[in-house]
Amino acid sequence: MIHSKNSNPETDVLIIGAGIAGLLAATEIKKSGHRVIVVDKGRGVGGRLATRRIGQATFDHGAQFITARHPRFAAAIQEWEKAGVVTEWYRNSGTHSEDHPRWRGNSGMTAIAKYLAKDLSVFPGNRVISLVNDSKRFVAIFENNEKIFANSIILTAPVPQSLELIKSGGIELATKMKNRLESITYEPCIAVMAITDGPVKIPSPGGFAPESGPIAWIADNYVKKISTIPAVTIHANASFSSENWEKDRKEVGKELLMAAEAFLVSDVVDYQVHGWLYSKPVGVSEDACLIVCDYPPLILAGDAFGGPSVEGAALSGWEAAVCLKTLIE
Ligand SMILES: Cc1cc2nc3c(=O)[nH]c(=O)nc-3n(C[C@H](O)[C@H](O)[C@H](O)COP(=O)(O)OP(=O)(O)OC[C@H]3O[C@@H](n4cnc5c(N)ncnc54)[C@H](O)[C@@H]3O)c2cc1C
Repeated sequence: MIHSKNSNPETDVLIIGAGIAGLLAATEIKKSGHRVIVVDKGRGVGGRLATRRIGQATFDHGAQFITARHPRFAAAIQEWEKAGVVTEWYRNSGTHSEDHPRWRGNSGMTAIAKYLAKDLSVFPGNRVISLVNDSKRFVAIFENNEKIFANSIILTAPVPQSLELIKSGGIELATKMKNRLESITYEPCIAVMAITDGPVKIPSPGGFAPESGPIAWIADNYVKKISTIPAVTIHANASFSSENWEKDRKEVGKELLMAAEAFLVSDVVDYQVHGWLYSKPVGVSEDACLIVCDYPPLILAGDAFGGPSVEGAALSGWEAAVCLKTLIE
């Protein structure tokens, strides 16, 4: 599935996770001439930079926009804007909203990931189930029993998933590091994507964070200009999401649609529900990435290290690339 002609490929660097952290780390490492392979269990690239199509409707159902505080990330956004990948969505949406640009992907948030992936060797649809350290290199074992032999690894999955992979391959962690990683938890988020038979009434700029009730965020992807027909994304807040996590998703979706009635105005003709178990990390690590093992190198990166946002994950990916290059060059 990974390489039709070579079922057990070798690489200098294997990056697990084609979210923003993994893709930016890969881009940096490739520039230095190393062989890099990126794999992801998802059907496409982007991770939580996620866009879904339902019929004619398009929804951003993960990250809604990106912002930049760090000059390096701000410069990357400028480059993506020039390349036609992102557009400023809005700056200020009301009295409680800070005046700084919020950027959206031109065809949805996955546009950013697709742009970054285009010159990389990225293989979606490949779930790693175990990571084995054979003392000189790593063996990544996939669901279908294929393997990749890698001289080094950057692991960008949410921390609980990364820990599972590390444990399942028998890689030992020092107690302090293990405890630190186990203390990183994530807020869940139940997301509803609804198609309505007419315009909806979400205040300008088409994205809004209600101050009370179960809804943390509601957005009109039509006004956001990524959908050609009315398409509403609703994100439940963390407490509603965890209280209702185990319940029937369609029923929970219905409850959220009822809570959103005042904004929807038109009838809902179809809806889907997605659960983000690892939506945003709580208890982010102080370091922008974590070197688990010097030789062969194994580094953890992602928003749990750089900060709970697309920007934080990006900064972590870049830092992981620097750390890895220091170890292998
Ligand atoms: C509902 C929601 C709303 C958000 N809103 C915003 C927002 O408006 N602005 C903002 O800046 N941030 C927002 N965020 C946070 C932001 O999306 C994340 O911080 C960021 O995208 C994380 O990037 P990452 O690369 O660290 O992780 P991810 O994007 O999660 O990438 C990790 C990848 O690893 C893959 N993976 C995991 N396990 C395996 C395995 N075993 N084998 C292969 N692949 C594996 C996953 O499939 C995933 O693609 C939001 C997140 C959610 C869920």
